[in-house]
Amino acid sequence: MATTQKSLIDSVPKGLFIGGVWRDATGGATLAVEDPSSGSTLTHVADATVADGKAALDAAVGAQAEWAATPPRDRGEILRAAFELITERAEDFATLMTLEMGKTLAESRGEVTYGAEFFRWFSEEAVRIHGRWSTAPNGATRLLTMKKPVGPTLMITPWNFPLAMGTRKIGPAIAAGCTMVVKPASQTPLTMLALAELLRECGLPAGVLNVITTRHTGDVMEPLIRDPRLRKLTFTGSTGIGRKLVEQSAEQLLRVSMELGGNAPFIVFEDADLDRAVDGAMLAKMRNIGEACTAANRFFVHESVAEEFAQKFAARMSGLTIGKGTRKGVDVGPLIDAKARDGVTELVEDAKAKGGTVVTGGGQVKGRGYFFEPTVITGVPMNARMMSEEIFGPVAPITTFGTEAEAIAKANSTEFGLASYVFTNDLSRVIRVSEALEYGMIGINQGIISNPAAPFGGVKASGFGREGGFEGIDEYLETTYVGIAP
Ligand code: NAP
Repeated sequence: MATTQKSLIDSVPKGLFIGGVWRDATGGATLAVEDPSSGSTLTHVADATVADGKAALDAAVGAQAEWAATPPRDRGEILRAAFELITERAEDFATLMTLEMGKTLAESRGEVTYGAEFFRWFSEEAVRIHGRWSTAPNGATRLLTMKKPVGPTLMITPWNFPLAMGTRKIGPAIAAGCTMVVKPASQTPLTMLALAELLRECGLPAGVLNVITTRHTGDVMEPLIRDPRLRKLTFTGSTGIGRKLVEQSAEQLLRVSMELGGNAPFIVFEDADLDRAVDGAMLAKMRNIGEACTAANRFFVHESVAEEFAQKFAARMSGLTIGKGTRKGVDVGPLIDAKARDGVTELVEDAKAKGGTVVTGGGQVKGRGYFFEPTVITGVPMNARMMSEEIFGPVAPITTFGTEAEAIAKANSTEFGLASYVFTNDLSRVIRVSEALEYGMIGINQGIISNPAAPFGGVKASGFGREGGFEGIDEYLETTYVGIAP
């Protein structure tokens, strides 16, 4: 483990990782990485040009055939070794993540465990890529169905989970035999750069994984998306950018996976265990400082228990300690930047202006860094902006409902469809509500649903494709059918 934060940051390669070699950007430009708890610069990383982006794709294309022919067991063993090494270096990864992204060390440790698990899971899946053999119904021919790697893949990831959003794409791609170009978010590149070096140490052949960091993101990405040698684009980020990338990918009918924004409803029925619901609310709202696509965005609570729920929830929220994520005893780190903090402030002011009552929190924390108070607002009307927009911060709007049908209608009244949460002790209701909610994921009596062994993904404007579970590797496989006359 690196001894100080400075030596840890110094130990991370800052260049572009192309064809198995670390190198500077063409022209030598760099971009700054900021500590969101203070606004100060942590370090600089390479700022790739359009030519660097193309070089990364060249390397991925060059390595594809040999990588696809590498035995699945060998591909799996590299992932397994990487899982072990991430686990060994968990403290370094957690510290890096906290420094560049802001969340507490405890949360970063949780992400390291979660992120590493995708490598273990897909190391096991690499050797279970199956085809099919059957006889045609008329008996005239034999039907062989086989799976092949899709080919060179472009992966674009967001800043909120700097490790896990990468490993749940890289893991299945390595397992399936795809090569890749990874573009982490400009605000949190260090974790991904450390991961690339770790995979190199684990014996991943040159060119299989290429990582580029750039501030000219659109200019560098678009030519790659339009390059016919690219076979797949997988993106995690905002719905707005996702829409743009789908448009760009349409030109060559590129295979695409989109993990986009959410607007999760958190429904508490009158028969729920309220203490359990409050525990769930704390997780669903406060994990990652509310900066999660799965974050509970709208709380719908039955009118008979709404006041008690709000009081208990607000008491827990007001007891949280705000501060730099590396400090002991801190529960809530800073938001990623000033724009994010000001955006959350605007949403809170809008909710107040439309009749919401702030029970706890409600404002920015003065001083350096981009901190915002854990906030609970009751009586938020459906036309408040935060009922239709992703808050991406530690703010919980509560509104009430009278009937199950009303709760479902309100929960579904959004363009998004990623995560949702339901608290009830009635099994029949669990079945009815799960069938009626238009969401890719539903948590029943629990505030966290992400699990590497389960298919993560959304419907509607939250995107398409699944990551993790048995489904996760399918995103990186093509099906070829061969008809064989006996
Ligand atoms: P973002 O602004 O969409 O950025 C995501 C990634 O896209 C970053 O790497 C960014 O690069 C890149 N990007 C920006 N403009 C681009 C362009 N024109 N062409 C190609 N790439 C471009 O999203 P974010 O603010 O980082 O992340 C938060 C969003 O991600 C939220 O909406 C959240 O719900 C969503 N999210 C979804 C999931 C999921 O699984 N569904 C998981 C996590 C987060 P730069 O950093 O260089 O701008």
